[in-house]
Amino acid sequence: MSVTLDDIRAAAGRIRGHVVETPLVRDEVLSARLGQPVWLKCEYRQATGAFKLRGATNAILSLAPDALARGVVTASTGNHGRALAHAARALGVPATVCLSRLVPGNKVQAIRDLGATVRITGASQDEAMVEVARAVAQEGMTEIPPFDHEAVVAGQGTLGPEIAPLTPDAVLVPLSGGGLAAGVAVSIKALSPATRVIGLTMENGAAMAASLAAGHPVEVAESPSLADSLGGGIGLQNRVTFAICRDLLDDAILLTEAEIAEGIRHLGRAGHVVEGAASVGTAAMLAGKFVPQGPTVTILSGANIDPALHARIMAEAA
Ligand SMILES: *Cc1c(COP(=O)(O)O)cnc(C)c1O
Repeated sequence: MSVTLDDIRAAAGRIRGHVVETPLVRDEVLSARLGQPVWLKCEYRQATGAFKLRGATNAILSLAPDALARGVVTASTGNHGRALAHAARALGVPATVCLSRLVPGNKVQAIRDLGATVRITGASQDEAMVEVARAVAQEGMTEIPPFDHEAVVAGQGTLGPEIAPLTPDAVLVPLSGGGLAAGVAVSIKALSPATRVIGLTMENGAAMAASLAAGHPVEVAESPSLADSLGGGIGLQNRVTFAICRDLLDDAILLTEAEIAEGIRHLGRAGHVVEGAASVGTAAMLAGKFVPQGPTVTILSGANIDPALHARIMAEAA
């Protein structure tokens, strides 16, 4: 395994004080309805509203001093871009985020507000990635990718030791590029071997689930989803996360958009304002696609949902 429990323990030491140990809160409604304790790991309470701060912080703190001085770069507009910008500023390291002209102005401003230098280039994400490659080759910046990177996986894996003492029967993990699922699976399987680790994602454009089914990384067509943070491919040249997910995940479960909306609504009623990606474990239990056989933990991975969209979903009849 390219990431070990020792790597995750080292990451936990590095990021201590830079990220919070988020609460584990019992979902009393689901626990009563399903007859097993259901716990919510509230990762949406990290400073940038998502667990990605763990991986980004560990990746930056793993760099040598000369690399730190030259700075870090990414093309992500989502939770990874926010996390990298926030962590870099907190650690006094220059961060650059390369965006295409198509990224909306409010998203550009949000990244500037986090202290990153924004470079607008080209008319697509692919062209923004060309600028990342140029900054790496010509300016000596270090690219910190959103998931397929050992230090990022180890950082996300620091969630495992916070969950393992419950020795749950199952941990439900939102699954996209697999950085979160890989890190959590490595630490949970080492610390609580009988615990099942299950990946959850949307039916529309689930690249890792399709890749696991095919036995190798594949591309899938993308379509809009309430779980927008779960979109995107895993990379046909995937190095780290595919193999770990293949070897350690016990199952992958796919959710419809209506099921994801129901998950958001259920959590919203209990005061957890989360994005679609964070609701997939809850959605699976509500839909009967995952039936708890013992104590179950579901990771509420992020909070970054447009408030108007959240209000619209809450107002819809179940
Ligand atoms: C990135 C992200 C995920 C998926 O993480 P991967 O490591 O790409 O599998 C899930 N939920 C939220 C909120 C995210 O930002």
